[in-house]
Amino acid sequence: MNTEQLLKVTDQYTAPNYLPLPIVISEAEGVWVKDPEGNKYMDMLSSYSALNQGHRHPKIINAVKEQLDKVTLTSRAFQNEKLGLLSKQLCDLTKKEKALIMNTGAEAVETAIKCARRWAYQVKGIPENKAEIIVMSGNFHGRTVTVVSFSSNESYHKGFGPLTPGFKIVPYGDIDALKDAINPNTAALLMEPVQGEAGVIIPPEGYLKEAYDTCKKNDVLFMADEIQSGFGRTGKLFACDWEDVDPDIYIMGKALGGGVIPVSAITGNSELLNLFNPGSHGSTFGGNPLGCACAMAAVDVLIEENLVQRSLDLGEYLKSELKKINNEEIVEVRGKGLFIGLELNGPARPYCEKLKEAGILCKETHENVIRFAPPLIISKDELDWAIEKVKIVLEG
Ligand code: PLP
Repeated sequence: MNTEQLLKVTDQYTAPNYLPLPIVISEAEGVWVKDPEGNKYMDMLSSYSALNQGHRHPKIINAVKEQLDKVTLTSRAFQNEKLGLLSKQLCDLTKKEKALIMNTGAEAVETAIKCARRWAYQVKGIPENKAEIIVMSGNFHGRTVTVVSFSSNESYHKGFGPLTPGFKIVPYGDIDALKDAINPNTAALLMEPVQGEAGVIIPPEGYLKEAYDTCKKNDVLFMADEIQSGFGRTGKLFACDWEDVDPDIYIMGKALGGGVIPVSAITGNSELLNLFNPGSHGSTFGGNPLGCACAMAAVDVLIEENLVQRSLDLGEYLKSELKKINNEEIVEVRGKGLFIGLELNGPARPYCEKLKEAGILCKETHENVIRFAPPLIISKDELDWAIEKVKIVLEG
């Protein structure tokens, strides 16, 4: 089928919960994708940072193929050869003692919330059902009912009530508001160290550290949602590393699955993760050997290919080049590593459509931000090619 036919059948039979650009991707390799007609585009979104290692990285594909020929699913009714190894790898990476592997990002966030609530009642001694978790305005942590319950974006939860109670929203980056919001029933702070979906929003310098210190002072858990910002995206392995913050709970996903299989996880110390006992949490596919084999290779690729440093170096370069663009509509170019938002004072969508025509795939974030987040394997030459196109489109 050609693009037109595929768009038609997809529109007809698929629930309209997204507004994608009208392009069908039928093949992909590295930073490049092709449509059914053979037109080539550069992927500058990386599936919302799930493709940090690029499309179909050979090492990840081989690991998955090898595992496909052995065993794909055991469920957690039995053990498998890969779950312990991935858990160890993630513990080593985050310097924690235990991991709990799930599938999607939202599930990992839910897992962290359950962990914090157990800790609140069993350790901190908060009265049953009174635990509060502080979250940030503009947050994005996924789409389950509990998670959208504490979104400050009304469209994410309108019509999906009754919503889950127990969350308090404070303005992102405002340390005094955070301090004021803490009370004896506060169990945890849940935050993105850089907000991706909000439009690549970076909190004021020092905020992460101060927020962390505030949590420590008040016996409140600090839970970092690194699902989008982790695994090198911001030029550090985790965005919390920018301020040497060591969260009580790391929440990971997206690039952990190397763009091949959904794999998510939380890590933390035993005193937290041992609060889960048999029967208290689980997932049929969570920790499956296929996903674990995939994730281990995905993490290896990040480390072996030095992608964190590449993100830092090329990110600085991309940001400085984008800042040179002459267009009165540009309000700000901001970002860390290869995680860059270009904010306009008008709609971003028409630019994304024009960029697509020029061979660059990006997506607007909210109305007026273009997010540039190419796979971290991108070469300098490829980036230069993209910058040239972006300049032409944005300068008209
Ligand atoms: N948390 C953050 C910071 C995210 O950016 C996302 C997805 O964009 C999620 C959670 C949800 O992940 P998933 O779509 O895999 O459920």
